Amino acid sequence: MQINTQEINGYLIDKFNQYGLEEGKTQGVCPLCSADRKPANQKMKCSSYDWETGLGTCHNCNKSFQLHTYQRKGASEKVYTRPITPEQFDDEDLLSTNVETWFGTRAISKQTLQDLQVTEGQEWMPQTSKMENTIKFNYFMGDQLINVKYRDGRKNFKLFITRKIKFKHYGSKSVDEKFNKIVLLTRAWHYNWSKFYYYRKNYDYI
Ligand SMILES: [Zn+2]
Repeated sequence: MQINTQEINGYLIDKFNQYGLEEGKTQGVCPLCSADRKPANQKMKCSSYDWETGLGTCHNCNKSFQLHTYQRKGASEKVYTRPITPEQFDDEDLLSTNVETWFGTRAISKQTLQDLQVTEGQEWMPQTSKMENTIKFNYFMGDQLINVKYRDGRKNFKLFITRKIKFKHYGSKSVDEKFNKIVLLTRAWHYNWSKFYYYRKNYDYI
């Protein structure tokens, strides 16, 4: 297996193999807990190393760790595709009265929309196969627009999708599949109760 010692996912590696683990191996000691274990267990291969993603996971202390350190800022030479940034995000007239009214019925104020830089504009929607007036939920990292979620009047959604995007939306893919059911259940539970409290707070329940 070829190990990339320079860059992972667009991040430049600063210190490769920061804990001096057995390079290229998929199992080995844990940099976090092995030294504190009973002498007989200190050499146990309690961790998995993934050199492709640069992540390690320990099955003894249940912690995850980075195999390397990364350079912090402006380090990546990789060019990411980003949505086109509208020129004036803070323009007060970016939202039409219709959109403001729509959010108003959900107790979301104009100020909130401005603070979160929600905008509006024409976008081609795959569900209707035509241009639609959409609300744009803009995702930022620093002051750069990195993703947009579009929603049209009929509740169709679309994400700005490109293979070169910095953050991919994996849903709950980082969760071990064995927890899928409980994730789904707790999400539904939290969603329903928060909806209940929201309506009780803003509209009086019943
Ligand atoms: Zn450990």
